[in-house]
Amino acid sequence: MKEIVIIGGGVAGMAIAWEAQKNGYKVLLLEKDACGGGASQASAGILSPAGKSCGDPELNRFIWEGIRMFPDWVKELREVHDSDPDLKMEGVLYPEEPELKTRIASLEDVNVSYQVLGKKEIKNNFPWFDVEKAVLIEDEGRINPRKLMYLLKDALLKSGVDIRENTEVLKISKFEENWKISIKNNESIFTSKIAMCTGAWAQGVEDWVPPIKPMRGQIIELAGEGMEFPTHTVHGAASYMVPQSGHYWIGGIVQDRGFDDSIDKKTLFQKVAIMANWAPIFTKAKLGESWCGFRPGSPDERPIIGERKGLEGVFWATGLFRNGVSLSPVVAKNFISWMNGSFKPNQDYPFSPNRFL
Ligand SMILES: Cc1cc2nc3c(=O)[nH]c(=O)nc-3n(C[C@H](O)[C@H](O)[C@H](O)COP(=O)(O)OP(=O)(O)OC[C@H]3O[C@@H](n4cnc5c(N)ncnc54)[C@H](O)[C@@H]3O)c2cc1C
Repeated sequence: MKEIVIIGGGVAGMAIAWEAQKNGYKVLLLEKDACGGGASQASAGILSPAGKSCGDPELNRFIWEGIRMFPDWVKELREVHDSDPDLKMEGVLYPEEPELKTRIASLEDVNVSYQVLGKKEIKNNFPWFDVEKAVLIEDEGRINPRKLMYLLKDALLKSGVDIRENTEVLKISKFEENWKISIKNNESIFTSKIAMCTGAWAQGVEDWVPPIKPMRGQIIELAGEGMEFPTHTVHGAASYMVPQSGHYWIGGIVQDRGFDDSIDKKTLFQKVAIMANWAPIFTKAKLGESWCGFRPGSPDERPIIGERKGLEGVFWATGLFRNGVSLSPVVAKNFISWMNGSFKPNQDYPFSPNRFL
């Protein structure tokens, strides 16, 4: 039987584990803490290209391939474990801002339509949204990332994937024809195929470490009852708001501060103020908990996917940065096709780890 050891149980590692078991692999997933506890748990769950990706056609296409897979992917997972991750492909609203031009220009290439909304249409359809002009990108959406993590983990367990939590990998080194994975409890595992999905905790092999650094993101939750609160995600250049299971998550912070997990309330309140300018109802909402997470950021903001020259058998899936949830199903699909030999990337493959050699 084909075997694979996956290191890291975030959305990338679990999506790959799912695809691997479907393709007949015996899967062992090693997670240093609890599955879904890293960046994936902290995410906003917006299914739309974020950051520089709209201006990067190859990345934009890849993200859209991922977004389009969500309805079938979630359906497939729910056939094994029926819990609802609140997937809503109802569209995302963008207030008119100069940055919106790049996003709109990127849509033609991926064959996505959008509606330009004037004041009257906004008032009729989104009475809580107080802007003169906006754009609705209908094919975009949202999912509750915590519920998705729960669904993925349970679907994996029910499908026979061996998940070992609280199992930190310390070192990976060559051992004859195989790879030796050294674990914190002094145990060693030998395998020919490894999926490296350690997110912002860049894990090296031999003397190579992928150039990943943690990019801190933060979200504050707001609650409101009995008023006309937003029905749709609003995505501005400097602040976003996503309705999640009866609450509203506001974020849009990207900070290069290492693994500093303190909460920067001042910046979070600025994000709330920007959003309240577009949706004044938020001045009446109650502030709830806030949290932070560490996105795996690569120097060019592109993911790092596949084998690195000289380290055959180790496949990376990291650097998903601001788009890891949207990308997860397509990364997993590409990854397994690559391992199976049905996808053979050429030298110019835009997400290869070899671009950093
Ligand atoms: C605030 C915030 C908002 C975001 N919003 C969105 C959004 O709206 N849409 C979107 O698509 N993306 C969003 N993202 C980005 C997305 O969350 C990430 O790109 C994605 O979660 C990365 O997934 P991952 O599996 O690579 O990393 P992680 O989820 O961090 O998983 C990596 C896992 O590896 C484990 N690990 C690390 N080292 C080891 C080791 N040595 N041994 C064993 N296990 C190890 C970690 O414990 C962790 O569980 C957001 C991120 C943040 C922080």
